[in-house]
Amino acid sequence: MALTAQQIAEQRKDVEEMIAGPDVGFAKALFFGKFKSDLLYPYPTLPPDKQAAADEMAAKVREFADFAIDPAKIDREARIPDSVIQGLADIGMYKLTIPGQYGGLGFGQQQYLKTMEILGGHDSSVAVFVNAHHSIGVRALCLFGTKEQQAKWLPGLYDGSKLCAFALTEPEAGSDAGNVKTTATPTEDGSAYILNGTKHYITNGGIAHVLTLMARTPDPSNPKGKVTAFLVTPDMPGFEVVEARAEKCGIRGTATGKMRFTNMRVPKENILGQIGRGLQAALTVLNYGRVTFGATCTGHAKVCIQAMTGHAKKRVQFQQSLSEFHLVQKKIAFAAAHCFAMEAATAECAAFIDKGAPDYMLETAILKVFSTEHLWTIVNDTLQVYGGKGYFCDQPIERWMRDARINTIGEGANDVLKAFIAVVGCRGPGMYLKGLQDQALGGVRGFFKSIPAALGVGAKLVAPWMTTGTPEVPVQSAELRDSAHTLGKLVREFGLKLPHVFLAAKTEENFAQAELVHERIADIAIDLYVSACVLARLDHLLVARPSNGKPAVADPHADPAAGKYFLTLAFRRIRERFAALDDNDDSALLEGAKSTIAKF
Ligand SMILES: Cc1cc2nc3c(=O)[nH]c(=O)nc-3n(C[C@H](O)[C@H](O)[C@H](O)COP(=O)(O)OP(=O)(O)OC[C@H]3O[C@@H](n4cnc5c(N)ncnc54)[C@H](O)[C@@H]3O)c2cc1C
Repeated sequence: MALTAQQIAEQRKDVEEMIAGPDVGFAKALFFGKFKSDLLYPYPTLPPDKQAAADEMAAKVREFADFAIDPAKIDREARIPDSVIQGLADIGMYKLTIPGQYGGLGFGQQQYLKTMEILGGHDSSVAVFVNAHHSIGVRALCLFGTKEQQAKWLPGLYDGSKLCAFALTEPEAGSDAGNVKTTATPTEDGSAYILNGTKHYITNGGIAHVLTLMARTPDPSNPKGKVTAFLVTPDMPGFEVVEARAEKCGIRGTATGKMRFTNMRVPKENILGQIGRGLQAALTVLNYGRVTFGATCTGHAKVCIQAMTGHAKKRVQFQQSLSEFHLVQKKIAFAAAHCFAMEAATAECAAFIDKGAPDYMLETAILKVFSTEHLWTIVNDTLQVYGGKGYFCDQPIERWMRDARINTIGEGANDVLKAFIAVVGCRGPGMYLKGLQDQALGGVRGFFKSIPAALGVGAKLVAPWMTTGTPEVPVQSAELRDSAHTLGKLVREFGLKLPHVFLAAKTEENFAQAELVHERIADIAIDLYVSACVLARLDHLLVARPSNGKPAVADPHADPAAGKYFLTLAFRRIRERFAALDDNDDSALLEGAKSTIAKF
């Protein structure tokens, strides 16, 4: 039976109220076909005093990097020299985001990431080292430590005398981080825990002085126990470094370690955060790590663009410089467009953190996937433009490729994060539709089968949140109005499309396993979100442009042409993925995979 106009209006109001709540961030709202512009616009900028402090620090880091960090030597010797580690401490790198009361500089995320962008462009090993020590190591203590723990542990961690590591991964707990096997059993008197287990692939693991370590503690509500975070030190009896520096493909300067713990006694005072809440703490900390990827990839992309264009202009073949060939220009334009977009999306995510926004989990996952995936293409294209020259070790490009390869695997493999983006994003509309179904049908029938009836419109699928028309994407610049309108239409189409996708899956179980569909949904969400960031940045740049028509800032990486090209590329990709939701080769793909897997 069809709903009345009043019922539809009530449903729409319910949804509007639900989406307006603080727990639904910008990216989650996209899955409802909504554009929460106040969360993203205007483009974030820093007040003059904070900008000046960030610029001063960035200049110090650049000067130090140029003078003291030799990427080729670090790669060759597979070690970051102590002088670099100490030198970074001396210029204040490790205390940037630590609050003032603990002797830190109290930088916000936007300020901090400017320095990480510089390190990312200079040397990936050093950037990953700093990220592991500061972004995810020290940060865990700042976010979850008690006052006593912070007073005890923090000082040595930012003066360079002690290093930090964050140890979650184990032989059987990689992407499946919840499968941690390291156990922490309380002693009889309850004063301590006895830890047993192994951690591997841990940056700084074998050289750190303090580790945030995830282990499974007993829990009355769960026979498997729950994961709890502990602060441990290598001088605890039972702590063994099995391998301090595993040989590896890229970021060779970092020390990636394997450690074993045998009956290691850890006082209960060393529990970090709440018992049984370790995975939640890990996810929060990884949020910061993922935003840092945005900055370091932006820095690396900028260096690639400089190298690629510099070489393309100098190298002559067929009596023309390479830069005159359209297929070379295609690579340069792609790199500039995606670098512009990475910078925009990084600034927006950093601003969410600085504002204390309650929900930016999807945005950080999107930023990580977007920047690491496209940086990989940019580095690969840079090597292609260099030709044979790029393949030799006297040039940095082959090292850049080896270094960039880890980005799509570490801190959540991109494949897993894409499924996460799709499933978490779809949860909101899915739950709402399920609620409608429960109301309409008493919850007795399958949710997916019942969507049309639940929506009260027979076979015609119209989600109640989609009866309000195309969302407004507010831009001030007249040049951007068409793009803003197109983005609004694509966002609306996304919200309209999802109930059909749920319906095509037939059951919730099918949908939960449909990773090929998840990937398309995630790719659409990624390009929608990043396009929204790019429009905000473009609007900022174009509106700030003085009457002579020239950009206000002389930054070559703030070129509106690059941002505009990104929008056309992203809009085309989004349309292609919409089409592929209905017209694809998934059955043939799965058949082919099954056949091959069975043969080997
Ligand atoms: C150099 C380096 C430094 C690291 N530093 C740290 C650190 O400091 N601390 C720490 O805790 N960890 C660290 N890690 C571990 C890192 O986070 C893991 O490698 C990563 O989470 C992936 O886990 P895994 O390697 O076990 O891969 P697996 O989980 O075995 O996955 C392998 C591949 O399978 C695919 N895959 C897995 N699950 C799915 C799925 N559900 N759907 C689709 N595809 C899937 C993905 O393509 C994935 O890349 C580091 C790793 C490296 C290589």
